[in-house]
Formats: sequence, structure tokens, C-alpha cells
Amino acid sequence: MISVKQALSIIEKFKYSIGTEYIAPNKALGRIVSENVLSKTDNPPFNMSAMDGYAVCNKPFNRVYKVVGEIFAGRSMSRKKILKNEAVRVYTGSKLPQGATTVIIQEKTKVLDNNFILYTNNCLKIGQYVRKKGLDFKKNKTIIKKGKILSARDLALLISANCKKIKVFKKPKISILSTGDELIFSEKVKKDSNIFASSLYMLESLIQLSFSECNYKTIVKDDKNKIKKELSKATKSDIIITTGGVSVGKKDLIRSSLIELGYKEKFWKITMRPGKPLLFGILKSKPVFSLPGNPVSTYVCFFIFIFPFLIRVLKLKNNYYKKIAKLTNNIKFISKRESYLRGFFCKKNNENFVKCLSNQDSSLLNMLATSNCLIKIPGKKKYSKNMFVEIILFPPLF
Ligand code: AMP
Ligand code: MG
Repeated sequence: MISVKQALSIIEKFKYSIGTEYIAPNKALGRIVSENVLSKTDNPPFNMSAMDGYAVCNKPFNRVYKVVGEIFAGRSMSRKKILKNEAVRVYTGSKLPQGATTVIIQEKTKVLDNNFILYTNNCLKIGQYVRKKGLDFKKNKTIIKKGKILSARDLALLISANCKKIKVFKKPKISILSTGDELIFSEKVKKDSNIFASSLYMLESLIQLSFSECNYKTIVKDDKNKIKKELSKATKSDIIITTGGVSVGKKDLIRSSLIELGYKEKFWKITMRPGKPLLFGILKSKPVFSLPGNPVSTYVCFFIFIFPFLIRVLKLKNNYYKKIAKLTNNIKFISKRESYLRGFFCKKNNENFVKCLSNQDSSLLNMLATSNCLIKIPGKKKYSKNMFVEIILFPPLF
């Protein structure tokens, strides 16, 4: 058995990259940019009115203007230029004609007749209510830096910059095989001895939240031939995750199946609770993570080992949110192994507190869903109320 630290370092030494691809910005939410993106245009692309009013030329502004045209947003005027003492009726977003430097808002003008307006105040500055060409950004400027996870706001920026394709890291495609004779899909009708394969769906969601994609998921019976067949199929994905059947029971057939398929074992079993039987190896050049079947073990193993691996494949920084917090209760649970306990973190008067949840059995989904962090404690040591512990907060939606 190896420690969590050793296991993490073995995974980290496995260098894995799955390349980049070009995609349209409207398909790029949550994708990670693999090279700096340059704007293809100035924005705004022309001098534009910021208000409804009249575009005019230079100072002094207080005078009578002849209204020589009207420009709506998206239109232009046949007359390209305006002169001193001339004004053009414009609206928010209208493209200003040549010579127009300033917009007088309509509320400040007096219409003398159809063709003339009067503006008597002279506190207007040149350039007022005009959004100048390139005010937002200029052409050929870096608008998004390499490594950024694209937000809805970034997509708007890319589209306004006329970027048709951007280079992003490919999404790791992951197969999930949940093994166990008792398991059924969520939409199936449960018989007596059936268990819903809840971890299968939890993993699928966690993969999605880790900027990756589950491209195949299935339930496999505890039958070596079936497991081997599904494992071989799964090597079409970039990464394989299995759940269940990885311990030492009679029906735990994952490891022997992998061995028969000629996989290269990196490690099996770690001094960790939950998650002891975790296995990591390489099958036909694809990384395989085999997680124990109890849902909490599956979750903790994904969070501690697979999430950082995916983050590294995508060249992101690990954004684990680690904190030190004061225990609000005694931890009754002592193990020889490093433990990752379900906790509930809260802040009071600017101080961090964490409660260790009462039951730490690795099958308890209710406890897992109630928790918002893991309390990491080294083996053997006893922890009681008011002592400080290390916690890892779950990222949003995890
Ligand atoms: P195993 O690791 O195969 O010994 O499974 C340990 C426990 O986890 C058993 O009670 C299984 O029924 C349960 N289990 C295994 N796989 C899943 C799954 N995908 N979803 C929910 N529970 C599971
Ligand atoms: Mg099983």
C-alpha cells in the first residue's frame, strides 16, 4: 500500500496530453483557450452615438443648427459629411457621419421647425455622447489570454471581435463503467436486490464540472468476459473510469480483468479512508482509474485524484480551495489511514469553523450531500473540539 501523497505523485508523473481544436465562440462556454486570442476588428467598428439626439461638429455649440438628415442604427446617410451649423438626427447605436464629433441629447434641444433646432447651453464637451471607434478594444489586440475558462461574457467579447474560430484544449473524453450485478440505470424499475447506479450519474456530472465529457457510460455485470469486453471498448475514450469490484471480494474482478488485458499497473491500494482499493494503471496507452463502489469512496477518489489529473491535462491551475478551520465537535472516528471526512464548513465573525458530520460510513449519500467540504486528517491522531484541521471546500456544484 502507498500513501495518498505517493499516489498523487505517480499520477502526476504520467504525462498525458490530448491536444487542441478550433471551435466557434458560440460553442465555447466553459472551454479553455489554448492560445491568446486577438481581436479581428475595432469595437465599436465606427464612431457611434451613445444617446438619442443630434450629431454636430465643433465648438462653440450654442447655436441654431440645420438638421440635414436622420440616421437610424444599422443605417447610413447618403450625405457622408456634415459641416458647422449642421446637425443630424441620431439614435443610440447610429453610425456618425464624418465631421460629427459630439452628440447633443434630444432633451436639451428645442425644435424650431422641422429643419432647425436650437441648443443654448455651452457646457457640452467635444466628444460627448460619442462612442469612438475602438473605444472598447482595438483590432489585433489580445482580448483573451491563454488558459482562460470561457464565460458567457467572454463569448460576447469574442463574437463582437469577429472571431469565427478559437483554439481550445480538447475536452477529455471519458468512459465510465460501473460494475456490479446489483446495479441498474436510474430509469429502470427496481427489484428487491437492485441498487441504482447513483455513482455513475454523480461521476458523469463531476466530469462535466471538470471541463471534460463522458462519451460512454454503462453498467457491467460482475463477469470477467463482460468486463474485459467493455474495458477494451472504453480504450476508444481518452480516459477510463470504473467503479466497484476493485477490492478483494470474490466478485471483485476489475483488477484481474485489466491484468488479463495486459494493462500496466501503476498502483493499487492506498492508505486512505475512504478509497483504499483505488487502482491506477495504463491500458492501451489510456489511463484507467478504478474506484471503489461505495458512492462516498467514488466521490472522494474522484475529487482527490481524478479532478487534479483532469485539471493538469487541461493545463489549468488546481483551484482546490483549502482552508484551516476550527472543529466544533470531537472527531470520534480514528483510522490508521489518512482520512477524508465529510464536514460542514461555516464562517462566524471572520473565523473558519467546521463540523465533522456524525456518520462517516462510505455508503451514506445523504451525509455526502449535506457536507460542503472534506476534513483531511492524518492517520492515528485524535482530534477534538477547538483543534484546527485542514479542509478542502467543494467547488460550486460539486
Ligand atoms: P464494491 O466496490 O463493488 O464492493 O461495491 C461496494 C458497495 O457500493 C456495494 O454496496 C455496491 O452495491 C455499491 N455500489 C457499487 N457501485 C455503485 C454505483 N455505481 N452506485 C451506487 N452504489 C454502488
Ligand atoms: Mg461489487
